Amino acid sequence: MDAVTRPEGRVYLVGAGPGDPDLLTVKAARLLGQADVVVYDRLVSDAVLDLVPDGVSRIFVGKSVGRHVVPQEEINRILANLALAGHRVVRLKGGDPFVFGRGGEEALFLARRGIPFEVVPGITAAVACAAYAGIPVTHRGVASGVQLVTGHCRGTTPLDLDWRTLADPSLTVVFYMGLANLGEIRERLIAAGRAPTTPVAVVADGTLARQRRLTTTLAEVEQAVVQASIGAPAILIIGEVVRLARELDWYVPASAETAELSEARAIHG
Ligand code: SAH
Repeated sequence: MDAVTRPEGRVYLVGAGPGDPDLLTVKAARLLGQADVVVYDRLVSDAVLDLVPDGVSRIFVGKSVGRHVVPQEEINRILANLALAGHRVVRLKGGDPFVFGRGGEEALFLARRGIPFEVVPGITAAVACAAYAGIPVTHRGVASGVQLVTGHCRGTTPLDLDWRTLADPSLTVVFYMGLANLGEIRERLIAAGRAPTTPVAVVADGTLARQRRLTTTLAEVEQAVVQASIGAPAILIIGEVVRLARELDWYVPASAETAELSEARAIHG
């Protein structure tokens, strides 16, 4: 492509945060107001989409685990073609575009074609859900680090994670997309040496009015999730820091149910 035909358009890979529109960055909100077209995923909340002005085109390319509505290659092409046609494209992704969001693949596709792009970070689900559950992901004397990992794998292949590192009791481990493989996560962590009594928090629909949170132990996590009928999207927070929620749980979601649930499952230790 020569300099004369270089596009005027641009793709903004924008993190929409975990759901509550108040948790968008100022830059994300500004770009939404200036976009020609918004290309968005399933995890982008309705409340965030409400900020897109009337008359701006919206393209839904949502996907759920194992059920790709629009294949990634197709999404890449849509973004590139819109930018080449001269549009200001906001590619809106849940959380942060570069955390388990395939934003890197989209950016590479654009970079390799010389299409201008910018990345606007967003608050990723791990830290948002932890904050809204009253759990500091690191805490002096309790957790010296945090690992963000995915509990999703292709088909029947086992999860390819460094379980020995994840079993380190001084680390907080946060699983994205972990609900489908809870049994494997529990077994592998315990087999690698993490204590079965390690506290675990599960936060679903974090930061939204319908947020639900339960606390349990590693040994009982699968059973607790089934009993409480917790569904995706949910984050799993594993580690001693979860105990701090007893004192720091500040967020009262609109659905009263949550309080009862977390009460029933609170760790006493
Ligand atoms: N890029 C996103 C993650 C995409 S992967 C980010 O940075 O947050 C999708 C997974 O993120 C979901 O399966 C779930 O594990 C997690 N997730 C996203 N939003 C969430 C929310 N509001 N509450 C709980 N988990 C969420």
